[in-house]
Amino acid sequence: MFVEPRVGNKHHASRRGWIEVICGSMFSGKTEELIRRLNRARIAKQKVEIFKPAIDKRYHELDVVSHNATAIRSTPIDFANDMLLLGGSCDVVGIDEAQFFDEGLAEVCVKLANSGVRVIAAGLDMDFRGKPFGPMPALMAVAEYVTKVHAVCVQCGDNATYSFRNAVSEQQVLLGETDSYEARCRHCFLEGMKGKK
Ligand code: ADP
Ligand code: MG
Ligand code: ZN
Repeated sequence: MFVEPRVGNKHHASRRGWIEVICGSMFSGKTEELIRRLNRARIAKQKVEIFKPAIDKRYHELDVVSHNATAIRSTPIDFANDMLLLGGSCDVVGIDEAQFFDEGLAEVCVKLANSGVRVIAAGLDMDFRGKPFGPMPALMAVAEYVTKVHAVCVQCGDNATYSFRNAVSEQQVLLGETDSYEARCRHCFLEGMKGKK
């Protein structure tokens, strides 16, 4: 389990920020882990704000909800840049579904961290083709801490790192039907992709 770095006192002159990334496939527990860290920050009486891309309205307009049905109130925004204004005065900024943000995400997170904010971003590291997803690679490169969480492969029970899509559409962004995606290990992902060609 990820052990949180010491969290500085915001009233102390040397308040320091940093970036944490939680990545992995669908159902790997990214949102659960994000909520766990944010709840701990709240218990420590820190000012916490959570953002998600406005495009992600699968379960709830405002809440960040895990597949395990834990939820936390969030602010939907259109552009990564919106976080500078809304999150600059926070101790901790949480971001869910970070992969859906624009390419400006890494730069925005760096600015927040540089100004003393602890940034915790959760997102898919790969899309359903197994390719790096949107702004995630750049964000992982500039983060101090990167945690890769794993789902359970629904085919064989190994650790799953891929999100296999059963649907036919080639569009990268397909939201809504959770049962059209399966967590799969490398072997079972490759087996599934073979059947598609
Ligand atoms: P993520 O944000 O990474 O998609 P969530 O935090 O929303 O993941 O959900 C994780 C939860 O999903 C697990 O605690 C478990 O209850 C459930 N779950 C459903 N399918 C799987 C699977 N194949 N492997 C692991 N967890 C699964
Ligand atoms: Mg999630
Ligand atoms: Zn497998």
